Amino acid sequence: EWMSMDEIREKFLSFFESKGHLRLKSFPLIPHNDKSLLLINSGMAPLKPYFTGKEVPPRKRVTTCQKCIRTPDIERVGKTARHATFFEMLGNFSFGDYFKESAIPWAWEFATQWLKLPEDKLWVTIYQNDDEAFEIWNKVVGVPDERIIRMGKEDNFWEIGLGPCGPCSELYFDRGVEKGCGKPDCAPGCDCDRFMEFWNLVFTQFDKDEAGNYNRLANPNIDTGMGLERMAAIMQGVDNIFEVDVVKRIMDDVLKMSGTKYNEDRKRDVSIRVITDHIRGITFMIGDGILPSNEGRGYVLRRILRRAARHGKLLGLNEPFLYKLVDSVAGTYISAYPELTDRLDYIKEVVKLEEERFNETIDQGISKLQVYIDGLKAEGKAVLSGEDAFKLYDTYGFPLDLTKEILEEQGIEVDEEGFNREMSIQKERARANKIEDNSLWANDALMEELRAYSTEFVGYERLESKSKVL
Ligand code: ATP
Ligand code: MG
Ligand code: MG
Ligand code: MG
Repeated sequence: EWMSMDEIREKFLSFFESKGHLRLKSFPLIPHNDKSLLLINSGMAPLKPYFTGKEVPPRKRVTTCQKCIRTPDIERVGKTARHATFFEMLGNFSFGDYFKESAIPWAWEFATQWLKLPEDKLWVTIYQNDDEAFEIWNKVVGVPDERIIRMGKEDNFWEIGLGPCGPCSELYFDRGVEKGCGKPDCAPGCDCDRFMEFWNLVFTQFDKDEAGNYNRLANPNIDTGMGLERMAAIMQGVDNIFEVDVVKRIMDDVLKMSGTKYNEDRKRDVSIRVITDHIRGITFMIGDGILPSNEGRGYVLRRILRRAARHGKLLGLNEPFLYKLVDSVAGTYISAYPELTDRLDYIKEVVKLEEERFNETIDQGISKLQVYIDGLKAEGKAVLSGEDAFKLYDTYGFPLDLTKEILEEQGIEVDEEGFNREMSIQKERARANKIEDNSLWANDALMEELRAYSTEFVGYERLESKSKVL
């Protein structure tokens, strides 16, 4: 049954409200009081203080739809059917309240009754020795043995260092053999897109101590995450998460702007999907107060933006274009994130400035890179030196992974260690000479321009919201 992203989001949150959960708004992408994380990457991340007991939750049961950024998935965006760097994660959480006995049947009830997914297409995975979860799935819910798969620690055990951790259980939807890799052992957990993982239920039941013991918690927690775009792709019967209603509207604007037809050329499709993904992340990150810079989350934003700009180049978009797509993002997400609308002019300005800045050097950088490539090929080499990669970074504003991505298409690798060495030499030199790092974009000039921009607009009614984010 076709269902829009807005409907799925609303259904999920109201389903868990009906089970006594308190609905909270998405937290910003910038973690609050958490130095261990650059950007919020899951529904549970902003709720960590409630899980560790540092803070008291407003209620023991909470449900959210959380904006997430996952840069580790960046290389897969547009190539798999299911990975984005920006996505929304729906979740229900129990802080020492209910446990598996409720979390599992509720997940099933929501999937089969509220979303009406056909039961025979659903598969589940559990942690190898989690017999408790097996019993609930099998006896209480009634999932047949052959569709419950036991997996190892890497896949189905959640832990980060010491502290709360535990097994998890994932739900998969079988999209049919034609979506798969065709290998005889293709099953849930296979990296192809036949079995689409859509929900992860984490059972935080242990506390790992210094000695490596897993001590059972008196009040175990529940943390779940369902990818909204993935569920929408399943409900709408489309090939991938970029073809679902809201996201598709943005993609259509990218297609129109670049005069590209979808489904004609795989490489162009990947570029289209990359831009569609990245512009969402860019818009939400800037909307939450992040500015492009050379460090931390500002650098993540810069990398994503420059990567999107470069994919635009591949489609023939040579002038700044990303900023024009900000309206499209804000417009399609208006019902869920109305606050974007107030920050629209500001977001567009930040994007445009950064695009212009990158455009000043990208063509020169690409020619330079071509010279390197030709040189390597002539010598029969397949590794670009750290010095050369660093020059591209320092002089032409190429984030390392952009260089890597371009070279990968040519079968060439980058000496990353060498690159990092150059980077620390430069930092050291700057420190020793107390000189400002005045390479083209490795400075605060952008910040200055933005400040100038915001004062220029003093008197305009919108300034309030602008200066707040600055
Ligand atoms: P996969 O194995 O497919 O990469 P995952 O196991 O890394 O997914 P989890 O960390 O379990 O994902 O996150 C919980 C849910 O969030 C997933 O079941 C999925 O629905 C969604 N999700 C995770 N990563 C992404 C992504 N990059 N893009 C869109 N949705 C995602
Ligand atoms: Mg993953
Ligand atoms: Mg997984
Ligand atoms: Mg998972």
